[in-house]
Amino acid sequence: MAVAARRVDPFGTTIFTEINQLALETGAINLGQGKPDWEPPAEIVEALTRAARDGGHNQYAPGPGTVALRRAVADHARRFYDLAIEPTAGVVITAGATEGIFAAVLGLTDPGDEVIVIEPFYDSYVPNILMAGGMPVYVPLHGPDWTLDMDELRAAVTPRTRAIILNTPHNPTGRVFTRAEMEEIAVICQEFDLTVIADEVYDHLLYDDARHIPMASLPGMFARTVTVGSAGKLFSATGWKVGWVHGPEELIAGVGRAHQFITFAVHHPSQVAIAAALELPDSYFIGYQTMYAAKRQILLDGLLAAGFTCQAPQGAYYILADYGQHFSGPPNTFARELIARTGVAAIPPTAFYSAEHAALAGTTIRFAFCKGDDLLRQASAQLRRMAE
Ligand code: PMP
Ligand code: GLN
Repeated sequence: MAVAARRVDPFGTTIFTEINQLALETGAINLGQGKPDWEPPAEIVEALTRAARDGGHNQYAPGPGTVALRRAVADHARRFYDLAIEPTAGVVITAGATEGIFAAVLGLTDPGDEVIVIEPFYDSYVPNILMAGGMPVYVPLHGPDWTLDMDELRAAVTPRTRAIILNTPHNPTGRVFTRAEMEEIAVICQEFDLTVIADEVYDHLLYDDARHIPMASLPGMFARTVTVGSAGKLFSATGWKVGWVHGPEELIAGVGRAHQFITFAVHHPSQVAIAAALELPDSYFIGYQTMYAAKRQILLDGLLAAGFTCQAPQGAYYILADYGQHFSGPPNTFARELIARTGVAAIPPTAFYSAEHAALAGTTIRFAFCKGDDLLRQASAQLRRMAE
């Protein structure tokens, strides 16, 4: 009988799909999947529409991405991080960061290699490593401040370790690693000759005095680091699935070789629009941060008033809250309880931990605040039912 491959046996339905479905069925306010509930800036939508309507951009884009978008990605890296990216051979445009990470794993690691993953992790990393024939090796972040123990990181390295996937600002904890932490990680990567896949999709989503330190910007790290970015986050256009990977030509060649046989090329009109969007003035990026800082505050106040224990995230658009005061069961059960009692859907972070470390999720649940202010206030009011 024809059956699915063993490779995909361990993969269930993603938690995002599952919670979206539940929210839809119950009519709950959905603070689960990290997707804005507003439209991208009008001028970017107009640029996409124009590109499709005026012609010339409705057939395959160049495989590695349009020249204009690759140049815009390189310009952005120079403008904000003083990184010198070669704008053609140093950039590959991918179908979102999701494909960028997969292409990097496939293009930069060999079967049997170990890849270090910081736990909790974005849920696609481990399936990516497994599909590439690699072995994930886990190093935990320690709550409540979500710090990395550098001795634990060092101890996780073996002669088979090839790479590390490092995400900052971090989904789901909201941690932004400090320069000192990044430097310590960099020392370990250099000592053991590791490749870094730097998932920096939330690079502009920072609060208070948090600063984004790209791994590629640290001394000695550029040659061993590929950086993954996403237009979905930056321009509230997650549905367009435009992302990129940039780095040294040698490594980007590996990523590009994998990319050409995954998607070959990415949606062409979106690339035209995102190329223009990346050239928006600094005021756009500042306004974007200010908008999110206000949303963070609304949800944080709402969660605290409802009796959750949580801290203000330093970056990204999630709050990982502890519900231990309300419920003692595991996150997957609580997610359903939360919908039933408050009409608010959130993501149980169990999928962000390996099966063997599932207990590390404790009594936490992730709320996304990339939602309209009124909806966040409404959700906050409903969450108070937990405290009643
Ligand atoms: N990395 C992280 C840390 C994410 O949170 C996400 C999705 N929000 C992605 C990668 C995937 O990004 P994209 O939607 O561009 O594929
Ligand atoms: N990155 C988004 C999140 O963490 C969703 C991505 C997805 O649905 N795969 O919520």
